[in-house]
Amino acid sequence: MTPPAPKPDAAWHALDAMQVLERLQTDATAGLAAAAVARRRAEHGPNRLAEVKPTHPMWRLALQFHNLLIYLLLGAASITALLGHWVDTGVIVAVVVLNAVIGFVQEGKAERALQAIRRMLSPRALVLRDGAQHDIDATDLVPGDIVLLASGDRVPADLRLLQARNLRIDEAALTGESVPVDKDTAAVDEAAPIGDRLGMAYAATMVTQGQARAVVVATGARTEIGRIGRLLEEVQAVTTPLLRKMSDFGRVLSLVIMATAALLFGFGTLVRDYAAIDMFMAAVGLAVAAIPEGLPAIMTITLAIGVQRMARRHAVIRRLPAVETLGSVTVICSDKTGTLTRNEMTVQQVVLAEGCFTVQGAGYAPHGGLETVDGPCAGWPPAVHGLAQAGALCNDASLREQTGPVGGAGQWTVTGDPTEGALLTLARKAGFDLAALAAQQPRLDVIPFESEHRYMATLHAPGTTPGAGNVVFVKGAPERVFTMCAAQFDDQGREQAFDAAAWHTRVDEQAAAGRRVLALARRVVPSDHARLVLGDVQQGLTLLGLVGIIDPPRDEAIRAVAQCRAAGIEVKMITGDHAVTASAIARQIGLGGGDVKAATGAEVEACDDLALRRLAIETTVFARASPEHKLRLVRALQAEGQVVAMTGDGVNDAPALKQADVGVAMGMKGTEAAKQAGSIVLADDNFASIAHAVEEGRTVYTNLRKTVTFLLPVNGGESLTLLLAVLLGIALPILPAQILWVNMVSSIGLAMVLAFEPTEADVMTRPPRRPDEPMLSGFVIWRIVFVSTLFMLGIFGMFELALARGAAIEEARTVAVNTLVAMEVFYLFSVRYLKSPSFTWTGVQGTPRVLAAVSGVFLLQLVFTYAPFMQTLFNTSALSLQVGAQIIAVGALVLLVLEVEKLIVRRLGLDE
Ligand code: ATP
Repeated sequence: MTPPAPKPDAAWHALDAMQVLERLQTDATAGLAAAAVARRRAEHGPNRLAEVKPTHPMWRLALQFHNLLIYLLLGAASITALLGHWVDTGVIVAVVVLNAVIGFVQEGKAERALQAIRRMLSPRALVLRDGAQHDIDATDLVPGDIVLLASGDRVPADLRLLQARNLRIDEAALTGESVPVDKDTAAVDEAAPIGDRLGMAYAATMVTQGQARAVVVATGARTEIGRIGRLLEEVQAVTTPLLRKMSDFGRVLSLVIMATAALLFGFGTLVRDYAAIDMFMAAVGLAVAAIPEGLPAIMTITLAIGVQRMARRHAVIRRLPAVETLGSVTVICSDKTGTLTRNEMTVQQVVLAEGCFTVQGAGYAPHGGLETVDGPCAGWPPAVHGLAQAGALCNDASLREQTGPVGGAGQWTVTGDPTEGALLTLARKAGFDLAALAAQQPRLDVIPFESEHRYMATLHAPGTTPGAGNVVFVKGAPERVFTMCAAQFDDQGREQAFDAAAWHTRVDEQAAAGRRVLALARRVVPSDHARLVLGDVQQGLTLLGLVGIIDPPRDEAIRAVAQCRAAGIEVKMITGDHAVTASAIARQIGLGGGDVKAATGAEVEACDDLALRRLAIETTVFARASPEHKLRLVRALQAEGQVVAMTGDGVNDAPALKQADVGVAMGMKGTEAAKQAGSIVLADDNFASIAHAVEEGRTVYTNLRKTVTFLLPVNGGESLTLLLAVLLGIALPILPAQILWVNMVSSIGLAMVLAFEPTEADVMTRPPRRPDEPMLSGFVIWRIVFVSTLFMLGIFGMFELALARGAAIEEARTVAVNTLVAMEVFYLFSVRYLKSPSFTWTGVQGTPRVLAAVSGVFLLQLVFTYAPFMQTLFNTSALSLQVGAQIIAVGALVLLVLEVEKLIVRRLGLDE
């Protein structure tokens, strides 16, 4: 029998928890069964808000015509039509349409690329279903699902709270109120406004503190946020400050060009006595020649391709300007655990008051015994056993064996905190049945681990020893736990006075070997004591011992750090771990070139802002640091003129991520709060991905610069040619329609290649780009002027040569256009390596894209020159093979000249 569907729009906040569960026919401890989930999913649909409606394609196409140049061209087309110059009108209109279509297609491509990337960031939710915890895509939630919330989570649907511990939620997304609200589970009056409904958590709000268990009451469009019609994700325009600057530059350039064209018209008609019509066509030609029509589209697509490439290398861009900023990063501040290290923890040593044991085995597989310096131990001494038991109970992780290939051993994996996973493996090695242990000594209460406090405590029933009282277990950072201890156990299990000095020495020994150290302690409380309060753990504990955990560095992080150092980027480690452990790992990874200077969070606190600037620059490892320290460190480094990338995962890291020039959030272990604050999300939490993102960021910038350096001289050469012809009063070497052909066909086709250019070999050996460095740097401007002049000389030279040879004007013009295109093709090979030689084997080979573009352009030029209809349309005429060869030779000559120029510029050190 199908149960009636849950009533969707009840005043859930006014019902108490039991009523809500009953209405939704769900169970607070086991959650829904798979069959119920499937049914409700079919009925309610996915838990998704309406996505931003994309602009209608027709409208997008229409918008392509909304641009100064197009208006100019359409104006020219109407005038030529009035004058009966139908061919010119046809060419201009064709060009306008072609331009719009190219813009439309490119823009669509860029949009789609970004959309695909946005989808990679879909939020997750932790639910209870069929009695087990599952980490699912938040879109799969259905009413009745039991959700577990933790600090940093984004609330995935509208929820009625069942249990809440210190829960605070930032509801700004819904109510606009930026102060987080304390939540509990109480029902409130039905008429209460949203901000006062304490027992509810609403979709799209953020958990800033605490934990909760809650039941989903509404999903998707039925949530409060869905109802007010707010959209899931604001649309992001495909632009960055740099692109905006370039488009402003383009606008100014267009105005200047149009003014020049007007002047030219005046000069030609009044001074040179050209016919007004001819002069008008020349002025239009100049405007068309000088305006880089394809530039904006190509810059946008270059950016989008960069973003796609980064995503492929596990760095998902959330805010586009980050692509640019990445190229100028000078300092990367990285977390340690999981980013620089593998986050695969293994307890390697157990340290007791009277001895130290080494635990055999690596990874999470629970196989291995104990050994001492004297050799393997026969069994597990009771004191080690007791410590392993504490580690297993004061624990939120779970250890599982994935079934392996037939007959083979399975893979052991941990869900939850890997540090805790290591303790579970230890307990299994010591012979504990984890499920039985948990059943025997059920947990009564918990103080969860928070980075700020650095410990976790649990309260358990006494288990098999009746009347023994409840037991509190505490595990955490040693110096923290030591302050809570009054006694320690000897190897016979007797309590003795706590010897803090001796324990600190043992901690230092462990840390110096690069091990992460946890201390474990216990305390017995009366059996009627069923809630944990801070007072229970602050004193009177008995120390059980220490565990030394290894977390090996990631090999790829070691390589990436070396790469960053070569690229002039400092890498600093900011970690919650012990200073000695962190320094040992930092040395293994090669931070600071092996010369590791460490400071602790306490030292950071002791510094005023000025002193911190010095400390921040000099120090490589910041240990025992908390999120507030991160924020101050970013500010201090920025005050020193550094461009800072900062990683983070917790809700408290959000301010530092926002402050950093590039905030890098962890995609796997990071909270939603951190992901929203970051401008990049690392899909694999791996430091190497940050280095890759920097490399791609630098590549995007270089490619943008190549595009500009490629396109502008072509326009420059064309306009100089026209200007000179009019000023000298001679025939135009290239007609306006022909210029349009070159700009719209060969220029765009060739420039598009640059958007896809692979990373240059030396990208990561150059120093970071200065953030204030203009795109049109002195070097780029020089290159543009120089190449424009070369192009003009080439066009004019070949044109005049043809005329001198007695060729007809049509033929001479065809020679001029083909020379221009040939020079462009060879210039492409030069520009692919802006400053380094192009005459290398890889340089000459090009890439498949380069070859395709060049062949395409070559074929089109053949059509342009030899096809009768093109001859009519563009006034071209066929050329002999010999002339063709000459044209290609001129192109090659340009490349040669540019190679010599590169050599001289490099020798004189003028390249920047
Ligand atoms: P990073 O900031 O690079 O990720 P981290 O993981 O060492 O470094 P935290 O997770 O804040 O930083 O841990 C800080 C300290 O708290 C650890 O050195 C350890 O002593 C202790 N600790 C870590 N995890 C737990 C846990 N689950 N229970 C109790 N104590 C823990």
